Amino acid sequence: MGSESVKVVVRCRPLNDREKALGSKMVMCMDLHRCQCFIEKPGAVDEPPKQFTFDGTYFIDQTTEQMYNEIAYPLVEGVTEGYNGTIFAYGQTGSGKSFTMQGVSEPAAQRGVIPRAFEHVFESIQCAENTKFLVRASYLEIYNEEIRDLLGNDTKQRLELKEHPEHGVYVRDLSMHTVHSVGECERIIEQGWRNRAVGYTLMNKDSSRSHSIFTIHLEICNTDGAGKDHLRAGKLNLVDLAGSERQSKTGATGERLREATKINLSLSALGNVISALVDGRSKYIPYRDSKLTRLLQDSLGGNTRTLMIACLSPADNNYEESLSTLRYANRAKSIQNRPRINEDPKDALLREYQEEIKKLRALVSGQLGTANLSSLLSGQLSEASPAVPSRPQSSTTEAEKEKIKEEYEERLAKLQAEYNAEQESKAKLQEDIAALRSSYEFKLSYLEKIRASRGSSVTKNVSSSCMTQVAEEELSSSTTEETSLTESAVPCAAVSVQEGPDGDGLIDSPDVTTAGSLDQKHVLERLQQLEQEVVGGEQARNKELQQRHRQRKNLADQRKVQLIRALSENSEDSENVLLNVYNSIQEEVHAKSQMLVKVQGKLKAAKLEIRDLQAEFEVERDDYLATIRRLEKEGQLLHSLLERMVPLVRRDCNYSNLDRLKKEAVWDEDSASWRLPDVMVQKTTLPSAVAPKLPARRSSATDLGDPFTQVEEDRYKEMLDRSDSENIASSYFKSKRASQLLGGEATKGHVIHSPPLVNGASHLTVSGSNMNLPVSSDSVLPRPFRLESLGVPVSNG
Ligand code: ADP
Ligand code: MG
Repeated sequence: MGSESVKVVVRCRPLNDREKALGSKMVMCMDLHRCQCFIEKPGAVDEPPKQFTFDGTYFIDQTTEQMYNEIAYPLVEGVTEGYNGTIFAYGQTGSGKSFTMQGVSEPAAQRGVIPRAFEHVFESIQCAENTKFLVRASYLEIYNEEIRDLLGNDTKQRLELKEHPEHGVYVRDLSMHTVHSVGECERIIEQGWRNRAVGYTLMNKDSSRSHSIFTIHLEICNTDGAGKDHLRAGKLNLVDLAGSERQSKTGATGERLREATKINLSLSALGNVISALVDGRSKYIPYRDSKLTRLLQDSLGGNTRTLMIACLSPADNNYEESLSTLRYANRAKSIQNRPRINEDPKDALLREYQEEIKKLRALVSGQLGTANLSSLLSGQLSEASPAVPSRPQSSTTEAEKEKIKEEYEERLAKLQAEYNAEQESKAKLQEDIAALRSSYEFKLSYLEKIRASRGSSVTKNVSSSCMTQVAEEELSSSTTEETSLTESAVPCAAVSVQEGPDGDGLIDSPDVTTAGSLDQKHVLERLQQLEQEVVGGEQARNKELQQRHRQRKNLADQRKVQLIRALSENSEDSENVLLNVYNSIQEEVHAKSQMLVKVQGKLKAAKLEIRDLQAEFEVERDDYLATIRRLEKEGQLLHSLLERMVPLVRRDCNYSNLDRLKKEAVWDEDSASWRLPDVMVQKTTLPSAVAPKLPARRSSATDLGDPFTQVEEDRYKEMLDRSDSENIASSYFKSKRASQLLGGEATKGHVIHSPPLVNGASHLTVSGSNMNLPVSSDSVLPRPFRLESLGVPVSNG
């Protein structure tokens, strides 16, 4: 498996109006041919400019189109072949990241990388021969270290990161949207943008505070000459990072500062990952330090082709930031990835689709009998249970029914247990149960149908071969009807939106009315629906498009050759001086002293670089120290607050002991949060002042022979005892006094005792305590002993 380095290009935007008005000077210049970039320190005329070499340099006049065709094109083309690809834009706010990724519609040459990638992917798909594609898209943002689905039903919901042993890191419950055209892609990204924008106006934020990742997931099925299918999967991540400016420079405070700290955390985590990867000595790569690095794990040192576009401002007042971006980018160049074609992806949705399409096609063209029709249909309608009896005998119908029911119940129980355990959303559980139930009902009704038809065929004494023939005739007649049915079935195949990677979006809800023609209609509808899900080869005969596609590919290849030549020219110069054969000694001295001057210049530049780096480290260290001090202050405030508040917590509650709580708290790496112990109250009970009439009650329960009632009774008694002790000071000697005072007044007596009951139990069982029983339901409770001793009748109302 070959490795290749991360490609890095830099792009410098023109001076903006504000910078022009301020009279800012340009500190950046580029040698486009040699892919070199130079930056001059403002005010340091005697210092040589710092020089960096990249895989591409794009100055103020270069367009996104040019950049895309030269460097992004091969990467995106690779994705349509089954590689993973990532393109990300890095740079300070206002340096042109969104301009590069999203772009502008006018002029057309400045349309962004994202819309170009859509067009490119669909062009490749349409030109592909003997290949079908399933294209799905997802869009998320990371804001304040929280992941949100920009295309989900609830864009505010915090999503979790999970790790799968085979698929790697993924976002749980991220919605996937099947797309069939460039237009659909654009609509989806528009929708995501709107969600991002709405969220931000509400919170008074702007997009430069969050990272966003738009992903196109491709599943590719290529059929070779022998009719064998080859499956591959590719994924293209398009990342727009938050601004990289340093917080001390922006002068942010309060909430802004907190945000900036988080942005800086994930960007410096990205920097640390890059450093660790480049270093070569460090075995540990700190991917887990931020959500961003975990999501980009495969793009940095993994199975992905990666392109980084470092965006720069040319103005002198942005010198520090631009230099820091250039250094960041320069380091990233050395990251080695190991991209490979993802062959035979497990649980590929496209494989299922293709197999089903094939079966349905065969069925429609009459190659299969009714046996397969039935199995196919039942299989289709309950996706998760592929093994369904094909043609049940009438004598075994009951047994079959039982079996299906058992299966249904078993799966239902399993599902419920699973969901309970995971505490997944209630809505999803209900959805699954509904799907399962409809599948169960359909199977049952289908069995009934078969039995009915079987019954009539038995009376007519028709042989099974005849049956098949009849069915086949029916089917071939349906094929002739195909065109009309096709048209009527079109509305059924809408764009499917799947919640999660398993794609339940295609589950068809059976609407059984009539038996015979309905099955065929189902087959055709399903076939239609499936065929609309996959795309590919629509323009396979469009010579012009094919030609253009090839040309763009060639252009990218030529550019690669040019780049290699330019880079080798850079390094050749010095070698030539040493290897050359000289005619005279003077000539040699001249050449070598020229080289000496050059090397001395380099040495000087290197020394300056060391000085600058040290200065920069100082600044960075100050920045970190400022952050640490701020966090310490915050921590101290919280601690002081807690110290004041702890004495207010009741002594018998476990939250009154801070030290013990600290010991019991566990840090959860996955959710990046503390798991705290449940709130618990341990109560002490004093002996009851009034002797309870326990024996009488006990015996009545035992007489009934119901141990459950007895246990319940004991529990209630215990609770009551507890509630008594709640208000020990005021109620311990109360009963006698109360009876003296109250005499026979019923309701008042009840009122006197109810507050401790309510206060004592329901208030304290807030979370996790095991006492959350219905305390005030008099209808369930045995009559309280205290009231009995008072001789007060208890009202149920
Ligand atoms: P960022 O996303 O990095 O914060 P933007 O992409 O929003 O920055 O760019 C800031 C401004 O600069 C925008 O008004 C944009 O139109 C302009 N701009 C950025 N790059 C270029 C460029 N290469 N050519 C012309 N204008 C640009
Ligand atoms: Mg932006």
